[in-house]
Amino acid sequence: MSIRIDKDKCVSCGKCTDVCPGNLIYKDKNKKAFIKYPRDCWGCTACLKECGVGAINYYLGADIGGKGGYLYTEKDKDYLYWHIVNKDGEKRVITINKKESNKY
Ligand code: SF4
Ligand code: SF4
Repeated sequence: MSIRIDKDKCVSCGKCTDVCPGNLIYKDKNKKAFIKYPRDCWGCTACLKECGVGAINYYLGADIGGKGGYLYTEKDKDYLYWHIVNKDGEKRVITINKKESNKY
């Protein structure tokens, strides 16, 4: 598993850089996030959950049927939306009420 960061969507908030436990995410001169060595990512999803503007795509490994499928998140005040895109481009959305997240 690994991530890819879309600089066009990145709003330079720096949250992914702050939470990555491996310090794998850096900021370029415009404060846009980038990952230097994607292969070092072990897929903890911390950056993905913090992003919330859909700038980080998290690619699913072939061992769990990913084959090009990926996840990204968007969020607003109360909800976190997990977008799941399969290898054929079909999308599903799982909505999490952040106030009730301890139920899951
Ligand atoms: S998924 Fe985890 S290890 Fe990989 S870049 Fe994001 S925060 Fe770092
Ligand atoms: S969390 Fe998302 S928007 Fe914020 S710096 Fe990282 S990639 Fe950019």
